[in-house]
Amino acid sequence: MWSPRGRSAPDACPGTRRVHAAADGNLARVRVPGGRLHADQLDALAAATTELADGALELTSRGNVQLRGLRAGAERELAARLYAAGLLPSESHERVRNVIASVLSGRVGGGLVDVRALVDALDEGLCADPALGGLPGRFLFTIDDGRGDVTGFGADVGLLAVPGGAVAVLLAGTDTGVRVSPPEAASTALLAARLFLAESTAQHSTAWRLAELDDGVPRVTARLRAALDPALLVPPGDLTIPEAPTRAPVGPVAQVDGRVALALVVPLGRLTGAQLAALTAAAGTGSDEINITPWRTVVVPDLSTGEAERRLATLAAEGLVADAAAGWVGVTGCAGQPGCAKALANVRTDATLVHASASPGAGDLPVHWVGCERRCGRPADRHVEVLASIEGYQVSLDGRPRPRSATLEETAAAIAAARRGK
Ligand code: SF4
Repeated sequence: MWSPRGRSAPDACPGTRRVHAAADGNLARVRVPGGRLHADQLDALAAATTELADGALELTSRGNVQLRGLRAGAERELAARLYAAGLLPSESHERVRNVIASVLSGRVGGGLVDVRALVDALDEGLCADPALGGLPGRFLFTIDDGRGDVTGFGADVGLLAVPGGAVAVLLAGTDTGVRVSPPEAASTALLAARLFLAESTAQHSTAWRLAELDDGVPRVTARLRAALDPALLVPPGDLTIPEAPTRAPVGPVAQVDGRVALALVVPLGRLTGAQLAALTAAAGTGSDEINITPWRTVVVPDLSTGEAERRLATLAAEGLVADAAAGWVGVTGCAGQPGCAKALANVRTDATLVHASASPGAGDLPVHWVGCERRCGRPADRHVEVLASIEGYQVSLDGRPRPRSATLEETAAAIAAARRGK
């Protein structure tokens, strides 16, 4: 339960040592700051889910990954494997390493700053400060290279590169008027996180998010501005802040260095063992890197044009989607039955029946399927919601529900109309 003074209990976000007991076994979430993985790390995750869990890897709405059906008592073994792979640098901080960053920053045009080093500095600074291990697991950082693709996630602490070479600091999506140089940006974001904790303590609050504090944004902004050199301050509000995240690209993407990145939709965010193997092999022909995005896509960067063509065919044959006009583009869903005990329907099976062969129109809105009113994994941007109920699915847009559909055909028709904004 949430109250103006905070939540009634600490957050229950899962990690790798503190797992969530789901209907299909334990669920472990692995944080991937900035969504960047090396091929050997993806390989380690693939081996872990094959040998300890259900064999697949799920992508989350924050660009992290999770394993379902984890064997009882396998947490220690999983943690040891992740530590060895460099995916668990700090057990005390694992659940707070929530960092979303601009996709393909430094590799494609449109950004003002290459934020990859900033992600590393933020993550290292976060793990190095014992106090920051006390952040709630829901606390989120975004690092936007200036193209506006991730600022709309409304992070508790956001960094946004702005013209002129500076980085603006945002709190819950609001400009603080703080402008720092890129090398100072990570430490300033970490300072803002510490001041959130200080304000929480002052309010005797257990808030999970900065905006849940009483006057959280103005109070933490005031603390931050008071703590910084006045030369770093401008009057807040002179900034145009993207309100919604920009969707990630799909298909081959030309990089500024002449190489190609392959951006692939993962149907319902679930990577199979064969897909994981194909991705690892593809990354091995580039720079050994794979990016996970909050839109449940994966990106394999730094491929030659010829290699991109060859790998695209292999990856598509495994069911990953590189066609921006394919039915799966923009479609997400929660776990549903049988993985979640709260689910009123097997939303993944039903979504597959509706979308696998559909051809959405250009500009169609995203769709999110959920098995109950908790609405897990709900996208941050405008989308069509498909909510399971005991009487069938209810399709809604902008909070306005349509009549419940008795059949999947009716549901599909209602979704198609809502995606066009009708
Ligand atoms: S939205 Fe409901 S059914 Fe879906 S995963 Fe969350 S709790 Fe389970």
